[in-house]
Amino acid sequence: MAENGRRNEKQNKKQSEFESEFVVEARSLTKKFNGFTAVNAIDLSVRRGEVFGLLGPNGAGKSTTMYMLSTILAPSSGSAVINGFDAGREPIAVRRSIGMVFQDSTLDTNLTGFDNLDIHGRLYGMNGAERGKKITEVLELVELADWRGKLVKTYSGGMKRRLEIARGLLHTPTVLFLDEPTLGLDAQTRRHIWDYLRKLRAAGVTMILTTHYLEEADELCDRVAIIDHGEIKALGSPDELKRQAGETVVYLKTSGAQKQKQKLLAALKKKNFAANAIEGGVAVKCKSCENAIPALLRAADSQKIPVDAVEMRKPSLEDVFLSYTGRSLRDAGASGAEARRAAATARGFRHK
Ligand code: ADP
Repeated sequence: MAENGRRNEKQNKKQSEFESEFVVEARSLTKKFNGFTAVNAIDLSVRRGEVFGLLGPNGAGKSTTMYMLSTILAPSSGSAVINGFDAGREPIAVRRSIGMVFQDSTLDTNLTGFDNLDIHGRLYGMNGAERGKKITEVLELVELADWRGKLVKTYSGGMKRRLEIARGLLHTPTVLFLDEPTLGLDAQTRRHIWDYLRKLRAAGVTMILTTHYLEEADELCDRVAIIDHGEIKALGSPDELKRQAGETVVYLKTSGAQKQKQKLLAALKKKNFAANAIEGGVAVKCKSCENAIPALLRAADSQKIPVDAVEMRKPSLEDVFLSYTGRSLRDAGASGAEARRAAATARGFRHK
């Protein structure tokens, strides 16, 4: 314990000295499995207090990236510095400064929620008083205080995930890694977990999560790296990415005859709008569609073409994924992620 205390003190000193804006910095991070490149020379920097998402389909290399950042896997080449510690040279220090929430439960369901946390705290060298205080604090945070004495096997799936998040936070990590935090949970429970993660974000916890749920990335993440075939295809805030992905589309619906639609199309093109005929009307792509709508309606009116409805669609993260990879995330095989869970967790918390 004394040895643990000295080590903690040394690390805390180093952590407090580490003031960089970025808590995670990866350079040319690469992982090859028997000649197959799962992650190819990834560069990324994660800011303190940021929620950073690794978004991509099944097999894209998200978990492998996260496992390298968290020292579970050794990279084939490249480097990662987490909270000032080099993942290759100082893996123990990295592990002490991070929390992990795995895809598959690693809880002992025959123990109570309290005991699961208590064991974790002991493993991290927390003393009795500190452990007791933090256990109460994290259980309250995930609203499981009333369940602390109950066996985990009596918890619902969502409660187990919340307990895992609490456990990941117990030793006050600088960065919390979450591998597909809501995989396999129903929509309502997923939203519930998002609420807790938002609370953590408000408390300033830096989080890195993998997800293949577009909505999850959109709702939670300050920045997102879109990963496909082991490479980062795009990186930015969800809004930035959506803006880059293309323009908003306005649909002018008209029940007028085909000839009228062609007349409207010609009138819009004359005004330099990027317009196309679609079934039931005309689609116009524009940068600032809100402002363009009056001009579009005037063009229709000038040709005496009645517009029955106006609809506007802004690009989604799905459109972003499509524009960078040429296919939709759903078609790219996201549904297979569930099947991969067992294999990913079986790799365990080992430095390979
Ligand atoms: P994701 O998390 O995006 O679904 P992974 O990082 O788990 O993707 O996997 C990326 C690629 O690396 C996949 O093709 C996967 O089959 C392969 N892979 C992952 N782990 C191993 C391993 N231990 N041995 C061989 N191939 C692996």
